[in-house]
Amino acid sequence: MKRPPLNRRLAEFGTTIFAEMSALAVSTGSVNLGQGFPDTDGPDRIAEAAVRAIRDGRGNQYPPGPGVPELRTAVTDHQRERYGLAYDPDTEVLVTAGATEAIAAALLGLVEPGDEVIALEPYYDSYAACVAMAGGTRVPVTLRPRGGRFVLDLDELRDAVTDRTRLILLNTPHNPTGTVLTREELAAIAALAVERDLLVVTDEVYEHIVFDDSEHIPIATFPGMRERTVTISSAGKTFSFTGWKVGWATGAQGLVTAVRTAKQYLTYVSAGPFQYAIAEALRLPDAYFDGFRADLQRKRDLLADGLRAAGFQVYQPQGTYFITTDVTPFGEKDAYAFCRALPERCGVVAIPNSVFYDDPDAGRSQVRFTFCKKNDVLQEAASRLRRLTRTGPTAASSDMPGTPRDREAD
Ligand SMILES: *Cc1c(COP(=O)(O)O)cnc(C)c1O
Repeated sequence: MKRPPLNRRLAEFGTTIFAEMSALAVSTGSVNLGQGFPDTDGPDRIAEAAVRAIRDGRGNQYPPGPGVPELRTAVTDHQRERYGLAYDPDTEVLVTAGATEAIAAALLGLVEPGDEVIALEPYYDSYAACVAMAGGTRVPVTLRPRGGRFVLDLDELRDAVTDRTRLILLNTPHNPTGTVLTREELAAIAALAVERDLLVVTDEVYEHIVFDDSEHIPIATFPGMRERTVTISSAGKTFSFTGWKVGWATGAQGLVTAVRTAKQYLTYVSAGPFQYAIAEALRLPDAYFDGFRADLQRKRDLLADGLRAAGFQVYQPQGTYFITTDVTPFGEKDAYAFCRALPERCGVVAIPNSVFYDDPDAGRSQVRFTFCKKNDVLQEAASRLRRLTRTGPTAASSDMPGTPRDREAD
């Protein structure tokens, strides 16, 4: 073969870290707090709605390209009622195969080869690959811990903008740091986008998972932003159906048309029956959303306490279902090596944040744990992690208790 099979645009992207660490969890019988998927399914009545749609023959054949009208209307009602954002359900919303496809289609539809795309670092792993597939250049702006929270340096963001910057790719609540951008931060980003005539693509899949006094504010609500923002969300995280892959993008007509043009040739349409079920889910009473958030906040506290007791430095998240920690208190400097050894040391799997950075030093010692798991799984993980301080890095794994693997949904 003259050339390696993988093209140059994707050469730097291997297997995702989640595949590697989940395989390690299986082979070692570890508690998997790596990949962020719940081990409890979403509401029964929503699952029943999907079954009913299939039985009633709704969505079993190619649904309309932009999505079924019921879901498009449910999405625009959700944006209006919760945030005061008005979109036309016929032209300003697009249903996608999860937020992942919306991100890919937005970048493929909006970015010209050579354009620069600013993304908050550490970034969700698909961002870098999608920017590369679109022929763009990614320009990371690093979130740094300050006062126990990961903070965006607005001067750094301003300095990152050049004449070639096409868009800012935002994510709030932010995976993996758990940061929720504040009103002040968002106002500053919005003002910069208006001043420099930039587009914003914002990934808000954790919009309903915010804790304590934090508030999720879509950047599209700021002055001058409606016409330059593509807002992306999905049902996976909000309704604990990550396997259904129902996502959506909202924005001004021209922007959504650009996203739709790319989406047409990726999947053409997204799974029909699930769209009807998620249309119902978006109309669940507030009690569902409040209860879901309160439950996750208790899980956050349970795991955060366990991690602190085990000796980790914990960055308390304001949103998402992840906790970022620092492993320097264990005398460790390299998160990747730490995560590779963790299953053998104590039977727990986590994700090294270092793989979500371009700047290898910035996140070198950060490790992410998810808490979207049953309480007994979190408790078991916490008790296993406590052995780290007691026994140190040379601990044998022979005394590892039986695997909790069968408790985990897959
Ligand atoms: C999980 C996740 C996604 C993917 O959402 P899907 O709807 O499953 O495609 C996108 N962005 C972030 C930040 C996520 O954590």
